[in-house]
Amino acid sequence: MIKNTLPTICFTSTLILGACQQPPSAPAQVAADTVIVNATVVTMDQAQAQASALAIRDGRYVFVGSDEGAQVFVGATTELIDLNEAMLMPGINDTHLHPVEGGTKELFECSFPFTATPEDIAAAIRQCVVEQPDATWIRGGQYASDFFVDHDIGSPRQWLDQFSGDKAVALVDDAYHNAWLNSKALELLGVDGPEDLPKGVSMANDASGRPDGIMVEAFGFLKDELSWTPEQYRAAAAHAIKLANSFGITGLKATAIGENELAAFKAIAENEGLNAHVAAAMVTPYGHREAALEISNYLALRDQYQANNFDTRFIKIFLDGVPTAARTAAMLSPYTASEAGGERHRGPLHIEPELLTKDLVALDAAGFTVKIHTAGDRSVRVTLDAIEQARQQNGRSGLRHELAHAGYVDPADLARFAELNAIPDFCPYIWFPSPIMDSVLTAVGERGEFYWPTRTLLQAGAEIAAGSDWPAAVPSLNPWPGMEALITRADPFTDGNETLWANEAVGIEEALKIFTINGAKALRAESRTGSVTVGKSADFIVLNHNLLSIDPRQISDTRVQMTYFAGQKVYEYR
Ligand SMILES: [Zn+2]
Repeated sequence: MIKNTLPTICFTSTLILGACQQPPSAPAQVAADTVIVNATVVTMDQAQAQASALAIRDGRYVFVGSDEGAQVFVGATTELIDLNEAMLMPGINDTHLHPVEGGTKELFECSFPFTATPEDIAAAIRQCVVEQPDATWIRGGQYASDFFVDHDIGSPRQWLDQFSGDKAVALVDDAYHNAWLNSKALELLGVDGPEDLPKGVSMANDASGRPDGIMVEAFGFLKDELSWTPEQYRAAAAHAIKLANSFGITGLKATAIGENELAAFKAIAENEGLNAHVAAAMVTPYGHREAALEISNYLALRDQYQANNFDTRFIKIFLDGVPTAARTAAMLSPYTASEAGGERHRGPLHIEPELLTKDLVALDAAGFTVKIHTAGDRSVRVTLDAIEQARQQNGRSGLRHELAHAGYVDPADLARFAELNAIPDFCPYIWFPSPIMDSVLTAVGERGEFYWPTRTLLQAGAEIAAGSDWPAAVPSLNPWPGMEALITRADPFTDGNETLWANEAVGIEEALKIFTINGAKALRAESRTGSVTVGKSADFIVLNHNLLSIDPRQISDTRVQMTYFAGQKVYEYR
């Protein structure tokens, strides 16, 4: 179904007749800045699920209701927009992404798709070396989790050396947890063997007895060792927000961000302004850790960087890795046998349960919402135990701590999410058969198919949030393929018939709730955004089709026609 959804815009002072026939009537003190009529408004507000019109003044909704009811808000300078019945809904909230990594990837890095073959990667590196004659480092990615399972290229380090000239090369994998480095990179990083790596980060040797160049759980180490300029951080953050707006996103949680990134967002907030509600989940030391977090440091950062539309009351803790070929997610039962891990390998916890509990109790008491990276069912259990302790010691703080990924949940733990007011932060958007899922299935075996028990968790009363995790594991922060797959559990790009645990599919209404109001709660912004409700910030999107009436397989093709943030148009499709 294709419909003309181009809006008709009239300024009432100049209109005579036509699509916008309302005469200017409202006195100046009542008149809205913008009135939208003839829209199919999906409000995501239970008190008033549907409407056809809304009025905005000073960035907020002052009216949501019928076309007739909106007339009173039309004054001499009101912008009046007739949407020709197009669907209007609250902006999407992405509760887990890495906007600066995504921005630097698109703006400054040597990029190739997850599907890249050795030939593709060699060509990309050669070209980047030529294009950046003055660079010391060539950074880029992303190679597939199973790249070295699928391609026998000998020593990864030596292979890379052939194409990298005098450059140090650091590539990240699709999960953004592991890295591939050449000899020059290891030299500059001062890594000559395992003794030079922090605990929890590892690298095997190649046949020559030298490091093979594959750094397992490298994310935190490289984030500390390699940096961009302040201008690059700022450009990357600005790029990510612009991109987010183009996909209909008006709220996002920047996850695992360090001080360079905090400074970039604050600079944008104080200068050109942020066109999204941005929550900052500050990174804590990555990898193995034996000392408790120094909470006062995070309180100081929180206060230093808090800015308009930039909320710094969030923390990210990594508890484990990924359940792919790396086998670093902490599972209750062993992985399938592998050369590196042996037979009984269950994946390590980065920090011991007692320490996680101590941190969580202290962060909860200090008023932080904590997102814990839990990719395996063991890390999920340990985290739920820690939240339970926080509830017992601090009482119910109302803070909704999140379990990031949480794809594997032991049946015994399902009901605990609702009991503890803990949130499964489901990401990335790959709840369908895909190459990264193949890598997971190889590593965890048959139970790999029982990934993301979405419907079961909803039935158990859990409030799910969803995030893209971009640029990890997904090629884009476009939420619409993710929303489609949540409903079909099939590949949204090919519309194939193969599904991943189809019983766990949810309906469109539930999916919209997850992507809007639940996301707003994860940003601690549900009183300000997440639904089209009088008094809230006018953060909404206009779509090319009505999600409630199309075939779910068309959801991934959704085109955002316009995005508004705080009553201002921040994106328009052209
Ligand atoms: Zn992530």
